[in-house]
Amino acid sequence: MIYSPADALALAQQHPERQVVFFAIGFETTTPPTALLIKQAQALGLRNFSVLCCHVLTPSAIASILESPEVRRWGTLPLDGFIGPAHVSTIIGTRPYEFFAEEYRKPVVIAGFEPLDVMQAILMLIKQVNGGQALVENEFSRAVSRDGNRKAQQLVSEVFELRRSFAWRGLGELPYSALRIRKEFADFDAERRFAVGYQAVADHPACECGAVLRGVKRPQDCRIFGKVCTPENPVGSCMVSSEGACAAHYSFGRFVEVSDGSDVRVTCVAPDLAVTP
Ligand code: SF4
Repeated sequence: MIYSPADALALAQQHPERQVVFFAIGFETTTPPTALLIKQAQALGLRNFSVLCCHVLTPSAIASILESPEVRRWGTLPLDGFIGPAHVSTIIGTRPYEFFAEEYRKPVVIAGFEPLDVMQAILMLIKQVNGGQALVENEFSRAVSRDGNRKAQQLVSEVFELRRSFAWRGLGELPYSALRIRKEFADFDAERRFAVGYQAVADHPACECGAVLRGVKRPQDCRIFGKVCTPENPVGSCMVSSEGACAAHYSFGRFVEVSDGSDVRVTCVAPDLAVTP
C-alpha cells in the first residue's frame, strides 16, 4: 500500500530490475493524478512501470440508479434526491448533474464531507422536495464550480478513453462507466503489457448493496448488517469506507432510529459513499 501514486513511480525508479504495476482505482477525483503519473513515466522513459486502470465514472452510476429495474417496474424510484460528492465534483463540476435533474426530476445538491456540509445539503434537498423543485444546487461552492477543473479534465481525456463496459460491486455490469488507457500510452498499460483478463467476482449472495444504493432498502434491511458485515469485516461495498451507507448507519444511524412517517431518502452517487439518512 502506498500513500501517493507518485510513490509507485519512485519504487519503479528505485528497482529497475522489477516490474512495478500501479493498481489505479477510484472515481474522477483520483483519475487526474494517475494520468499525470503515466505522463511522468513516459517523460522519464521508464520501462518497468505500468498502470492497471480501474477508474470509474460517477454520472454512469447515477444513470444506473435512475434506470434501475424499480423505475421500469413502478415508473419511479423511491429516492427523493441525490447528494453529489464534493471531491468528484471539484473535477467534473456541477454541469454533468443537470441532465439528471432535468430528465428525471430529481434534485441534486453537491455537498462537502464535513457534518455541517451534509446537514446543509440535506436541508437544501428537503426544501427542493417540499417546493416540488428539481435543481442542481451547489452547497460546496468554496471548491466546486459549474465547469469543474478544466485542466484536470483535459489531462484525463488526453490519457484515458471510455471503456465499453465495467463490472461494479453492487450495481453489476454498467456500459461506458469506466476508463481505460489510450493506445498512445500502451507502454504503460498493464492490461496490454501483461495480457490481463478480467474475471467477474460475484457479490456476497446476502448483500443488499445494490438495493441500498437505489434507495429501495435500508442498511438494516440486509440480514447480515452488523452481524457478519461490519466496518471491521466489510462484506459489501457500502460498508467499506466510513462514508458508505451501511458503515455510516452502523456508526451512527442505528442509534437514532426515529420514524414519524415523513420519510425522505437521499443517496450519494458514489457507491462507496452512499448516505441514506
Ligand atoms: S454492505 Fe454489508 S450490510 Fe450493507 S448491504 Fe452490503 S452486505 Fe449488507
